[in-house]
Amino acid sequence: MLRSQPMPLLVPRSYPGSLSIVIPIFNEESGIGLLRSAMERFIQDLECDSCELVLVNDGSTDCSIQRLAEWASEDCRVKVIHLSRNFGHQVAATAGLDFATGEAVVLMDADLQDPPDVVHSMIDRYCEGYDVVYGQRTARAGETAFKRLSAWLFYRFSRRFIHPDLPVDTGDFRLMSRQCLEALSELRETHRFLRGMVTWIGFPQIAVSYQRKPRTVGVTKYPLRKMLALAWTAATSLSILPLKFSLLMGVLFGLLGVEEAVRAILAHLLGWYTVPGWTSTIVVTSILGSVILLSMSIMGEYVGKIYEQVKDRPLYIVARTINIPTDRQIM
Ligand code: UDP
Ligand code: MG
Repeated sequence: MLRSQPMPLLVPRSYPGSLSIVIPIFNEESGIGLLRSAMERFIQDLECDSCELVLVNDGSTDCSIQRLAEWASEDCRVKVIHLSRNFGHQVAATAGLDFATGEAVVLMDADLQDPPDVVHSMIDRYCEGYDVVYGQRTARAGETAFKRLSAWLFYRFSRRFIHPDLPVDTGDFRLMSRQCLEALSELRETHRFLRGMVTWIGFPQIAVSYQRKPRTVGVTKYPLRKMLALAWTAATSLSILPLKFSLLMGVLFGLLGVEEAVRAILAHLLGWYTVPGWTSTIVVTSILGSVILLSMSIMGEYVGKIYEQVKDRPLYIVARTINIPTDRQIM
């Protein structure tokens, strides 16, 4: 459990009567067969009365939607949400969570890096009374040293500077109670960092450890560009620390300016040197120029985010759904 969280008041619950498993999918055509057999095996071992799979096709450009439609036509537990284009993992996951109807809801990836069997331990903790049970990785097999290092740095940095309760080595693989999900669905911000939002919501949260497996097939859909974008969203959606950074730089360079001024006055009075300090002037001016531009661009990032938020557009657009009753089509 997270140290700075309040002591949870755990109210034990019975095994969830219904479970939803939400899986965002982007160009996973080659892995859908494996996902299907793994999920069918997993669902057999559940003690729930009903289980649904909410599969969100996030604008895949391969034949993922055809594979999903075939699967859904043979299994009415499979519900497909076909988004009108690629909205990104965090928004696709949100769409799936919005459509999930289960008493408990699990969010996981399509590539089976998060082993479905871990969900059994998550359900055990859910029954103890926890509202959020997140998977914490003890090992990340099959990932490059760069990916592991960047993830390690990202989690430590986020915890230190963005939110002290953000759990480390934790992705979006988690189980949430209906109460928690309803609270989460109230947060409609455009720039989404789901883990941070779930941390912000509170409720009793706990980790279960698991070994992250290599991808079954295909390649990661999170290239460096998307990882950096997610890290930036995390930094700017959960805290205003980057804005404070401008203030810090302002103070530092203000002090440097005072030091330069004192030195110039002393040099003039004591006659230390007579050549005007062109170099130092240029250095200080260019550093100041870059700090001002940096500060303005950080502010610009926030202004841009405010602009996008005030447009109040829907987070995603559903083009089609399969196996979902029509009264649940409109958000
Ligand atoms: N994904 C998505 N939209 C995107 C990128 C990824 O729906 O724009 C899905 C992807 O199909 C997978 C999950 O999000 O089910 C996590 O992506 P991935 O496994 O590539 O990320 P990694 O595990 O490498 O961080
Ligand atoms: Mg993955």
